[in-house]
Order: sequence, then structure tokens, then C-alpha cells
Amino acid sequence: MPNAVTLIVHGHLFTMQGEGVGYVPDGAVAIEGTRLVAVGPTPALAARFPQANVIDATDCAVLPGLIDAHMHTQLAPLRGVAQDVSHWMQLALAPYDRHLSDEAALAGSRLNIIEALKAGTTTMLDYDTPVPGWAEFYQQVGVRARLAPVINALPPAGMAGWKVGDLYPFDEAAGRASIEAALAFARDWHGAAEGRITVMVGAHAPDMMPREMLLDVKRLAEREGLMIHMHVAQGDREIEQMMKRYGQRTPAYLDALGYLDEQLLAVHLTEATEEEAALIARRGAHMALCSGSIGIIDGIVPPAHAFHQAGGLVALGSDQACGNNCNNIFNEMKLTALFNKIRYRDPTVMPAWEVLRMATIEGARAVGLGDETGSLEEGKQADLILVNLRAPNLSPVLQSPIRNIVPNLVYAASGHEVELVMVAGRVLVQQGRVLTADEAAIRDEAQTQAEQVARRVAEDPLHHELALLEPMRRGWL
Ligand SMILES: [Zn+2]
Repeated sequence: MPNAVTLIVHGHLFTMQGEGVGYVPDGAVAIEGTRLVAVGPTPALAARFPQANVIDATDCAVLPGLIDAHMHTQLAPLRGVAQDVSHWMQLALAPYDRHLSDEAALAGSRLNIIEALKAGTTTMLDYDTPVPGWAEFYQQVGVRARLAPVINALPPAGMAGWKVGDLYPFDEAAGRASIEAALAFARDWHGAAEGRITVMVGAHAPDMMPREMLLDVKRLAEREGLMIHMHVAQGDREIEQMMKRYGQRTPAYLDALGYLDEQLLAVHLTEATEEEAALIARRGAHMALCSGSIGIIDGIVPPAHAFHQAGGLVALGSDQACGNNCNNIFNEMKLTALFNKIRYRDPTVMPAWEVLRMATIEGARAVGLGDETGSLEEGKQADLILVNLRAPNLSPVLQSPIRNIVPNLVYAASGHEVELVMVAGRVLVQQGRVLTADEAAIRDEAQTQAEQVARRVAEDPLHHELALLEPMRRGWL
């Protein structure tokens, strides 16, 4: 017996097919099983599928689910404890990070995943050291995930004793162990949950392992047919390490190693020049742009516009809650458009439709899922969201002479207007409520775990280095 068909009707459809946003007025999509079987005008689809279960999308925008190309969900218990400071890593994050237990990391990851899901993110690229229950929760909640276990050669005991300006100490045994752990994780999870969960090779950064190990990672990724998800030129620290150790800046170093190809998702490019960004794009690598995080942590707008102009594919990422401080692609679309206009003092740079494509079809292609998701297209996975256009901040809806929906989705939406989220044909959020997890319990557990982390930090003498203690003392927080 064939699967029942579900029809979503009367929506403002943004299919993201073609060069633009692929608008269809009074549009419908038909879903059978996990896939879209038809996309088009409501009258035509209603006639073709008279027996279908119907979801009415009147006054809603129907979009492909959003792609978040770079997250560290396990850091969610540290939301809001590390921003507005210099040396973010050392003076804000590190004293907290070392007290993040596996239980706290898992509780944070669950919170972050729910947060992103409710804001319409259906594909999550999560970059973390796997803790028990992490991938299992992705399986349970039902989103699409591309998980990257961290690979580096940093000492397992941590970087205690390391001083800014010193070369990182490498530990080859730790490096080999992290590669083995990533391989074992890939064997367990690549293609799991009916293919919703896939694995990428999470090379931490070019400065965090020796050259030979970086090359091993590339060979391994090629052998296993996996993409590489790696921070590239992610800060002045990295460039300093690369210059000291190899006498080359990161992009030239990676180019010489043959690393800059379509297998690589290069995250951040914070310190890359426009010329370096264009080189990386021309070589075929893809970029994950984290506007909110890099703006808050570094005060920098990465060269995504130059990357794009050179023909590269750009995806958006929310990064981590301890320095962004939210995991919400609506937020990233707005910040990306604004920051780049401001950087170039030009309001025509990164228009709304361009960043909406980065959050959907272009992002899907950049992360290697362009054949599966990112647009509403017959044969693709049924990953989609309904956004309530009757929300006060998205009203009025106008069609002529200028249609105002896409600009309002990018500049006015918060993500809280997302009413329904579907992944692989399954409704995960309805009327703004998560159906596949207990949201209240997840929030309570994250609160409990975060308080325990904070207590351990307060008991650790290292916390006296926290840069935010002074504003705290002055009553500014
Ligand atoms: Zn990152």
C-alpha cells in the first residue's frame, strides 16, 4: 500500500529553485514518505492529490528548512558568559570550558538543538567531541545532522602552562587517538537514522596538529568519502602559530598541501585577506560564515563577500552560545547582510535574497547536501518550515509593485514566527511546540547543569583571570 500523501497548501512558497528565491503564489508541496513528490500551484496539486492529508499554510511563508553550517552545541551551558572581551579564548572561555562535564555538555547540546529547531533550522553541522547521548539525541529529535568529531594533537591534559605567543605543544599519541575515535564514530553514525545523520572529519585547525597528521586526515577523509569540516584562519593566534612553525600564512600553507578543494568546508576565515579568500574559493573549497560569533569575539567581518564574488559557496553558521549568544539562522542572515553592508559602506552588498540563499540552497551545497535538501524540489527530502506572516513584525504582506516578504524574513523576523518544522516528511514542531522532545525537561536540566559548572568555576582559582569579573564588580552585568 502506498504511503499517504500530505499536501501543504495556500502558502507563499519560496522554493529557492533557479537563480532567485523561486516564489510561487498560492503554492503547495506534496510529501510522500520522506520526500517531496510535487511542488507547484495549489489548484494543480489539490486536483492531483484529492485524497491527501492537508495542512493549510494560508498567511505563511513556506521555505526550505534552514542550514546551520557550524555549531558547537555542547557549549550552550556557557551562554552569555564570554563576550565583550579581548582574548576571548583565554580570558573568558577557558576557565569555564575546563569545568564542562560530559553531562553538562549533553544537556547543553540538547538545549541548543531545540533552540535551533524552533527557529527553523533543519540541518545542523555540529562540531564537538562526542559525549554519550549526543548523536542519539539528534536521532531522537529527528533533525538532519552532519556531525564532526574533533581531531587535533593538543595534549589531553589541556593547555595548562601554555602562554600566548608560545608554540602549541603537540602530543602525537593524542593526535592518533583522536583520529581513531573519529573513525570509530563515523563507522557508527555515518548514514544512521535513515541517512539523516552523517559524519564529517573534524580537523580542528591547521595550527593544531603537525603537517604529517593534517595530511593523514586528508587521506583518511578521501578514503572514507567524507568531507572535512575545519576552522581555517580563525584568528590572529592561528596565523601567529603558522608563521612561527611553518613560515607561511594558513591559506598558502593549505594550498601547498593540496587541501583547498571541494572536500573542505573552511570555517570562519576570520584573518584571511580578500585575496586569500578568493584563492580558497577558486580552488573549490566552501566557506562557513559565522557573522554573529566572529563579530562578538573578534570584532571582525570575515571576507565572505570576496569569497562569494570569486565564485565560492557560502553557508551560514551560528557557532557557539558562549560568544554569539544564540543559535538562530534568522539572526545570522540579518547580521550577515548588515555587517557586510557596513564593512563596504554599500547598501547593495549582500541583499536579502543572497543571504536567504546562503541559509538554504547555497548553504546546502556548501556542506555537501545540495542534492538532498536546501530547496523545495520534487525528489528532494521534505525538509521545510512554515513562517507565520501574520506576526506583527512581518505584517503587512505586500505583493505589488514590490513583494516585501523576503526582505522582512531577513531584516524583521526573529525565528519565533516559525510555526511548523518538517524534516524528512516528519513534523517536528507544530504551532511552535517541539513534538519529539520534552522541551521543559531539557531546559530544566540545562539550567541545573549550567549552575553546577558555574559553581565549579567559582571554586577554581583560575576564575580570577576572567576578564568579565571587573564589569561584574562595577555593576555592569
Ligand atoms: Zn568553531
